[in-house]
Amino acid sequence: MSTHFENIIGIIRQRYGAGQIPLHAPVFRGNEKKYTNLAIDSTFVSSVGEYVNQSEKMLAEFTGAKYAVATGNGTSALHAALVVAGVQANDLVITQPFTFVATANAVAYCHAEPVFVDIDKDTLGLSSEKLKLFLEKEAHVNDQGICIHTATGRTIRACLPMHSFGLVCRIQEIAKICKDYNIVLVEDAAESIGSYVGNTHTGLIGQLGTLSFNGNKTITCGGGGAIITNNEAIAKKAKYITTTAKVPHAYEFFHDELGYNYRLPNLNAALLCAQIEQLDGFLKNKAETANFYHNEFAKNDIEFVKNLEGTTSNYWLNCVLLKDRNERDAFLKYSNENGVMTRPAWTLMTKLPMYEHCIKGTIDNALEMENRLVNIPSSVL
Ligand SMILES: *Cc1c(COP(=O)(O)O)cnc(C)c1O
Repeated sequence: MSTHFENIIGIIRQRYGAGQIPLHAPVFRGNEKKYTNLAIDSTFVSSVGEYVNQSEKMLAEFTGAKYAVATGNGTSALHAALVVAGVQANDLVITQPFTFVATANAVAYCHAEPVFVDIDKDTLGLSSEKLKLFLEKEAHVNDQGICIHTATGRTIRACLPMHSFGLVCRIQEIAKICKDYNIVLVEDAAESIGSYVGNTHTGLIGQLGTLSFNGNKTITCGGGGAIITNNEAIAKKAKYITTTAKVPHAYEFFHDELGYNYRLPNLNAALLCAQIEQLDGFLKNKAETANFYHNEFAKNDIEFVKNLEGTTSNYWLNCVLLKDRNERDAFLKYSNENGVMTRPAWTLMTKLPMYEHCIKGTIDNALEMENRLVNIPSSVL
């Protein structure tokens, strides 16, 4: 086998040791058992409870958001965020083809359609330059101030960039462009808890952002998610529609709009509180891993994807680039057969049957990264 592959595996093993190495295993070494037991003892295991309130408070504090609304998973957070952003049936929402399917699915849940604009190769997230070119060429703002896709007459309501693997995209530039075109900016920060532009946490550059606490993410509570925002009206609306849009009353049930049961159960919230307590330590450890990889790979001429200057990545999943799809496939086979779990990037959204007909710009960078990128072990040690 090529010495190139052996070098990569050797460096991963220097960090993670012998035996089977998972891609990203959860770590429970804090108050997880204590808090979940307390939740059980309280009998409040379901849709209301003190841990739900506590987790929202802790998330707001950690991210610096004025408000956080906990949800049952990251996908439901995304769907609710788009509803709050005003996305309606037949609208268009600009996102990237290089993402996990939940990003595009959330748009489809609103009976809207994703529009795919290319990523930047250095950030792996939506390209501000490509976004600007796309809008200049294909859209205009009408006299009511609504952004219209000129060829179809459909409203471009929102833009939904995703911070891939924790790396931060050119989100400030994207925010400026969205402002010029009156497009609501929603950030899919599912992978980027602990990632910042300057001192601003991802998800807070746009009007609202979403997080995920699925089992493979930086912190997990089994299943969970959140919407974060600095806007009070957005936070209130998000809480309302994710808790069935029930008009408050001591015992009557009246719901005045279409709501969702997207609540985070108190039992999961207990787990989440215990994980947030350890988040600073997890991030520090992940930064050390990324630093180690970066230095060792540089010595061996192996391409590692680093954060953009002025941003902090949580390095949720570290990424290396192989020469082309053939080399990528050979490396995936070699590493997985040798006990080191690796995986390719997602198949592009533009290749999935649900989305292959959607409007798109040029997607050369996304195609190249799909062919070349491999995620390597990144667990907290
Ligand atoms: C994990 C993830 C989500 C949300 O996933 P859930 O499993 O529903 O919590 C959304 N978008 C991206 C990019 C993700 O990686």
